[in-house]
Amino acid sequence: MTNSPAGERRERILRAAVRDRLVEPDSAVLAAFVDLDGVAASVAALQKAFPDSVNVLHTFAAKANCLVPVLAELRDLGMGCEVASPGELAQALAAGFAPEQIVYDSPAKTRSDLRQALELGVAVNADNFEELARIDEILAARASESAPASASASRIGVRLNPQVGGGGIVEMSTATATSKFGIALEDDGNRQRLLAAYRDRPWLTWVHAHVGSQGCPLELIAQGIAKAVAFADEVNATCGRRQVTGIDIGGGLPVNFADDETAPGFDDYVATLQAHAPALFTGAYRIVTEFGRSLLAKNGFTAACVEYTKISGGRPIAITHAGAQVATRTVFMPAAWPLRLTAHGPDGTLKQGEPVPQDIAGPCCFAGDLLAEARPLPLLTPGDIVALLDTGAYYSSTPFHYNSLPDPAVHGVRVDPDGHVHFHPLRQAETVDDVLSRSGH
Ligand SMILES: *Cc1c(COP(=O)(O)O)cnc(C)c1O
Repeated sequence: MTNSPAGERRERILRAAVRDRLVEPDSAVLAAFVDLDGVAASVAALQKAFPDSVNVLHTFAAKANCLVPVLAELRDLGMGCEVASPGELAQALAAGFAPEQIVYDSPAKTRSDLRQALELGVAVNADNFEELARIDEILAARASESAPASASASRIGVRLNPQVGGGGIVEMSTATATSKFGIALEDDGNRQRLLAAYRDRPWLTWVHAHVGSQGCPLELIAQGIAKAVAFADEVNATCGRRQVTGIDIGGGLPVNFADDETAPGFDDYVATLQAHAPALFTGAYRIVTEFGRSLLAKNGFTAACVEYTKISGGRPIAITHAGAQVATRTVFMPAAWPLRLTAHGPDGTLKQGEPVPQDIAGPCCFAGDLLAEARPLPLLTPGDIVALLDTGAYYSSTPFHYNSLPDPAVHGVRVDPDGHVHFHPLRQAETVDDVLSRSGH
């Protein structure tokens, strides 16, 4: 197999990981790696893509990789954090984000979630009219109790569904006519209700739209954001004051899972936005972004040992330790979420040899637990290692606890200019005791 510079880097990391016994039969049959140099480069590309004329807070969508040391790394790089559950909020706070760097989205915030966010001063995007009414109640109660002048330091916005349509993956499309997210801007009467909601609430100063995710073309995302910007202008015109001061444009930049090229890039994204929503770049609005996958996916891979091999129905099958527990979407929706796989020998070296179509199976006890079907790879043998590429986002950090399989260790990686590979623990592997403790024991 030929190797790209990114492939050579992965091979170097994997060989070092085997040498350091982070991947080995029996004791470390599955491990994930996050390339922290790569993460820094991706964040720099995002920061550089936006012109200096705008005031931007880039937040990272915690669900894409919720490990606290990863979040802390992103904080050190100047990012904020987007959260959507009490757990993610706790992770963001543990990673050291200040409340004003945190944005709380979620279509199902409870009263206590909202109370906590408003007390802390975390930014909140309301998903629907009922949630706005809850925020009214909480702010009224806070104003009568304590600080009437500023019932909350939170920036508060409404999530719009601009209803621009879906992308290539229905389950990932947030701006279809009937999406569960946000307030449907084009439904009868909603625009007027929304304008009235802003007019009646001087503290409602942000507009939020997240048109994603994987599978959505840039044009579609930009059209959705353009509608959010036009709506913000409309609020300000209707209210006769600059009430809306910021626009949270969400994340959703698609990732190329086909090869090592990063495409589209953040600069392509900004260029498309500049074409569709020039008003966003006048400096009139502050901007928040919420990227997840595009910052982390290509900066991680997962390594799994091959335990056994066999031939069934004439098809070679390699049984590895990576399946639905770490590659849930790939296993259940293989057409939407195919992963590149590379074959390595026991020392981590890229395997040579004629590609042979093989099924790459996981350890879970259901027949569909396959990372790939009939994938041409050099013939695997027990003790070899399979690498799952581009798994830095939404893979090992968000496990599926089928068969009570343990969550694997996740290692941060940095490579010196002289080529030395350094590992930093991001998460320890779960032990069987850990599994017992999440099993009611
Ligand atoms: C998931 C999510 C994101 C991040 O999406 P990516 O496709 O990972 O960039 C941003 N904002 C909201 C509201 C989300 O739900």
